[in-house]
Amino acid sequence: MSQIVFIFFLTLTIAVFSYSAYRIYRFFNLTKPAYPVKEIGKRIKLTIENAFFQERIFRKPVAGLMHAMVFWGFCIILIGSIEMVIDGVSGQERSLAFLGFFYDMLMAAGDVFAYIIGLFIIIFMIRRCCLNIPRLHGKELTKKNHFDAYLALSLILILMITLAGINIFYVASHSDYLGKFPISSMIAPVFAGMSYETLVLIHDINWWTHILLIFLFANILPYSKHFHIFMSIPNVFFSRITPLGKLANMESVTKEVKIMLNPETAFATAEAEAVSRFGILDVEDITWKNYIDSLACTQCGRCTSVCPANITGKELSPRKVIIDIRRRMNEKGPKLIKHGKDYSDGKSLIRDYITEEEIWACTTCNACAKECPLNIDHPTFILDLRRYLVMEESAAPAQLNAIFSNIENNGAPWQYSNQDRLNWTL
Ligand code: SF4
Ligand code: SF4
Repeated sequence: MSQIVFIFFLTLTIAVFSYSAYRIYRFFNLTKPAYPVKEIGKRIKLTIENAFFQERIFRKPVAGLMHAMVFWGFCIILIGSIEMVIDGVSGQERSLAFLGFFYDMLMAAGDVFAYIIGLFIIIFMIRRCCLNIPRLHGKELTKKNHFDAYLALSLILILMITLAGINIFYVASHSDYLGKFPISSMIAPVFAGMSYETLVLIHDINWWTHILLIFLFANILPYSKHFHIFMSIPNVFFSRITPLGKLANMESVTKEVKIMLNPETAFATAEAEAVSRFGILDVEDITWKNYIDSLACTQCGRCTSVCPANITGKELSPRKVIIDIRRRMNEKGPKLIKHGKDYSDGKSLIRDYITEEEIWACTTCNACAKECPLNIDHPTFILDLRRYLVMEESAAPAQLNAIFSNIENNGAPWQYSNQDRLNWTL
């Protein structure tokens, strides 16, 4: 009977998760191509350094170590969760115990991490609600964002408590238990006075609560910032590996120039149609990389905390810019899918989400991209918003317009003719 119940919940979880994943896949289909993904070896190295060893997060040693421990603990505990699924489907207990020594090590590490993660989650909650850490309270974070964060932290805490409960009552109810549980085996004797039936019952309550919460959590993730649990490793793998300050050529401009230079292809409709808009106005103009950046963002605020524009009181917050991509896609994406790519709701990413003031406040210093633990590339996205404003609307600030005319007329940003450039030598 319990197997049937388990398989029912597992099937339901997979079905709902597949629907959410398909929804996101369709949003990706609305995006444009980004750079080609080459140099796989370099990318694997980057992923190991940044995603698995959490290199950038250690710039803040204490918080960094706690986050890294939670991440590594999750990786270990995930294997235990896979075993629970196998147990639930097969009706067996401790299906992976045949791994022997490796299993003992796995269980021992999972047991220790359950207590460590539980403790760190309590610290994270206290830090979030009681300490006034500016990067955790930016004005771009809505009540829903804060609720999401507390919900996820609470769920993780309950997951760790129930995992500890599973271990403690498994050890307490079995004299010949499989695996090693360094901390739980020290706590288990406290319950030695309970009957075998009571111990098994409490173990089973913890087991079912734990696995059902994992199923619930997996289906909340795609709708919360904690979707980064799935997206952060792919995002680091696909991140740009060219130097941060390097400005990429615009594919659309290259195509236009080629069309102009070659009259034979000037009316080649396929190529001409491909150039629909310069830069980014709205979500249909973003690349898949911009979108995966927005899904991977943990909203940690590290980028905003180092942004010179933000620090000096400008409107710009690089975290907000990335969050806005996801918010706008959630708003417009379903309608674009339903009504086609030409659909307009009269709003756009520029102005309705990101103001011109924010866009022009960026100094393109790249501090945000350098600080982001997930290699999110904010400046390139902001530059593409600017490219739209300049190339499609000629809506650059007045000072820049003067520079543009000087470049056009004098071949330099200054207001003197380039013929007069050497006058100072006379
Ligand atoms: S590149 Fe722009 S957004 Fe990023 S830190 Fe510098 S000023 Fe801020
Ligand atoms: S963009 Fe990066 S640094 Fe900024 S909030 Fe998101 S994950 Fe944190």
